[in-house]
Amino acid sequence: DSKRRVRNSFQRFTPALVQSQQEKLKLEAQLRRAADNNEFHLVYQPQVDLRQGRIVAAEALIRWRNQQLGEMRPDHFIGHAENTGDIIRIGRWVLREACLQAARWRDAGLGIVRIAVNVSYRQFLGEDLAATVRDTLREFSLPGAALELEFTERVLIEDAPDTMRTFAELRALGVMLTIDDFGEGYSALNYLRRLPIHGLKLSQLFVSGVPGNSSDIAVCQAVAGIARSLALGVVAEGIETEAQRDFLLRLGVPVGQGFLFAPGLHADEFGYRMLEEQRRAG
Ligand code: C2E
Ligand code: MG
Ligand code: MG
Ligand code: MG
Repeated sequence: DSKRRVRNSFQRFTPALVQSQQEKLKLEAQLRRAADNNEFHLVYQPQVDLRQGRIVAAEALIRWRNQQLGEMRPDHFIGHAENTGDIIRIGRWVLREACLQAARWRDAGLGIVRIAVNVSYRQFLGEDLAATVRDTLREFSLPGAALELEFTERVLIEDAPDTMRTFAELRALGVMLTIDDFGEGYSALNYLRRLPIHGLKLSQLFVSGVPGNSSDIAVCQAVAGIARSLALGVVAEGIETEAQRDFLLRLGVPVGQGFLFAPGLHADEFGYRMLEEQRRAG
């Protein structure tokens, strides 16, 4: 019966749970000592100019070699380090090691090779990142341009109070800031391609800025491009001016709404407009 099944399933699964719990604790204990034991190193993946094949930067990727646990990929331990809080110390180590390497390359006459460092969201929240970066650059007499920081989309989504200030400070240092794996995890794009929907509404937030604001233009182009690629319809919201309408038309956005055409209307007024339009169309 079902009661016995439940009990059996407990008997079957509890040891495995305990074992995985023990493994987790073991990994976390090892992780805590890993930095002091010099068990981490970085590998550098070139970022290449696709036309000329030139290396323009390197992404630093952490590796962990442990006596008992062997060689481990970051996907197996970064999450644990985030949970325990060790990510802050590990992240500092990565940053310093990357800058040390950039300084070594510079001193070897290779010039400044920009190094991209991955920053965990937990690390971002857990320390004054701009201060740490400033101090580390200064330690090796490196310009900010020697460093790139890669953040996950969480930094966009969570909108923490200090995010803007920290990013502004990092920018002021000359550090390059990028969003890693854009569209992969927290963004709506992942759902976008899976959900059986018909279209997107291009937010007034961006429509209001065209055709004058270059970043709003970029977002409108991107949204229109995504919609086209996924064969979704797109409707622009909040069109208030003819310039906005013309811009969106040129972008291939076929449909829009906004005060330029009409505000929200009462049912009878709406009906009147419909009638009027039909009369005009003949
Ligand atoms: P990976 O080296 O195994 O790193 C996996 C992820 O762990 C990284 O994804 C990054 O999110 C995180 N990570 C690595 N180092 C650090 C670190 O120092 N601090 C923190 N907080 N997180 C870190 P990411 O950044 O997207 O890196 C690209 C991954 O894709 C790397 O895996 C890289 O080795 C791998 N990769 C690069 N080129 C290829 C390829 O052509 N094919 C495949 N399958 N994988 C590739
Ligand atoms: Mg990365
Ligand atoms: Mg990536
Ligand atoms: Mg990744």
